[in-house]
Amino acid sequence: KKPKLLISECLFGVPCRYDGKDNYIETIEALKEYYELVPVCPEVLGGLSTPRDPAERQGERICTVNGADVTDEFVRGAQLTVDIALKYGCKQALMKAKSPSCGYKRIYDGTFTRTMKNGHGCTVEALLEKNITIYTENDIELLLAKKKR
Ligand code: SF4
Repeated sequence: KKPKLLISECLFGVPCRYDGKDNYIETIEALKEYYELVPVCPEVLGGLSTPRDPAERQGERICTVNGADVTDEFVRGAQLTVDIALKYGCKQALMKAKSPSCGYKRIYDGTFTRTMKNGHGCTVEALLEKNITIYTENDIELLLAKKKR
């Protein structure tokens, strides 16, 4: 039986990004041989529409470029994503780098100037609390190598 891998839905090819586009990458096709993918978009789950204003983390709050506070939606999306990960028994997650929801280790700094800072997206933070191992699209080769060994 293949292990379950939670995946950011935009990497899976769903156009759920803030700008209505996706982040599909072909290498995920190779992953399907080894993992059962469980696609989720925390921002959509949290009740935000697509397209939507871009948002960034500003400390514990998440605000859009137009100053609207969307923290509640982001927190709700993070909780629902964790629920799905636990329900499906995902011990690993492949998340979209840099996103205020899905980013791992490095995210935009809240100034909307494409400047990065250390930190996680709020969904990744919630997944890490449940000891789910996080990868980003930059680690796909690593995930594949682990299986091919
Ligand atoms: Fe992709 Fe995550 Fe943003 Fe949804 S919240 S569009 S899955 S990066």
